Amino acid sequence: MNPPIAEAVHLTKTFPDATGRELIAVTDFSLRVGEGEWVALLGQSGSGKSTILRCLIGLTPATSGSVLCRGRPFCGVHPEASMVFQTFALFPWLTVEQNIAVPLLSGELSAPERKDAVHTVIELIGLTHYHEAYPRELSGGMRQRVAIARALVSKPGLLFLDEAFSGLDVLTGENLRQEMLSLWHRKDTSLKSVFMVTHNIEEAVETATRIGVLFPNPGRLGLVLENPLPYPRDQQSGEFRKLVATIHESITRQCLPDAPALEPLGAQLAPPPPVEGPAMQAIPQVPPGQILGLLSILEDTAPGASVYTLSNAIGREFGEVISLVTA
Ligand code: ADP
Ligand code: MG
Repeated sequence: MNPPIAEAVHLTKTFPDATGRELIAVTDFSLRVGEGEWVALLGQSGSGKSTILRCLIGLTPATSGSVLCRGRPFCGVHPEASMVFQTFALFPWLTVEQNIAVPLLSGELSAPERKDAVHTVIELIGLTHYHEAYPRELSGGMRQRVAIARALVSKPGLLFLDEAFSGLDVLTGENLRQEMLSLWHRKDTSLKSVFMVTHNIEEAVETATRIGVLFPNPGRLGLVLENPLPYPRDQQSGEFRKLVATIHESITRQCLPDAPALEPLGAQLAPPPPVEGPAMQAIPQVPPGQILGLLSILEDTAPGASVYTLSNAIGREFGEVISLVTA
């Protein structure tokens, strides 16, 4: 088997907190992204997803453990990867074309070759009539397209996506996600693999060939599931819903240890391995007003509703609602 295009091996990352003590953001995290894979890492906010991505692409050094490209450590940024962030991070004073060309400025391409590369990716990402537009003239969806085009212009084999679809409205996000899937399926581009972090369970089940679930405080890998569902995936199918429910239950069980099991797990999926948690757990810092709000919503909700249904019903992120419920 070829060594994976990206791999974290026992990755640990700590940050000094305000008092100078080391805060463990991520501990003993190991995961690989092979050629042809779309790996999703699911976790609530603050669980360490962006930290892991920044380590994997080489923007920040690991405190211990290693980060590899094809089995070897690398200097600086990952030589075969690009990254797309949740916020569009475009230069407002540059046009679409100029923004996309930025990663090529330090390379060896001549000006005509650069122009050619930019035009190819503009066609690929559906920005054909927007060469001269400025970011402020574009919708959120189009700006994120520019960010994706900019990430792809250097012809990476691996794309890191940091919640790249979550800042968009639901339909735009879904559309862009489908386009990224088609792009990843195409054989005539450099792109072979995707590593996506997200807090959206459906998004992970819709796209990924393998899903890792990150448990928080400190961030650690709790569960890895293969996702064998054929593409295009039907969100309404029984298999799809079953996988969503399995992941949902594993997160709920981890975050709310005294929660009753919702329904038996699918027989083909192994239960998550037991994870050593801290003996004492801090109460999540959430505004008391929101706890009261949750209580009054619960009063009007049919008994037995799951946290997941609840978070969908009130339009809040699952991780956020979990924190409220825990508190
Ligand atoms: P996520 O992307 O899952 O929301 P992050 O990786 O951004 O989570 O953060 C994980 C934890 O690490 C959080 O507690 C966050 O406050 C902390 N953290 C992240 N980056 C830094 C930093 N540069 N300095 C100090 N703490 C950080
Ligand atoms: Mg993040």
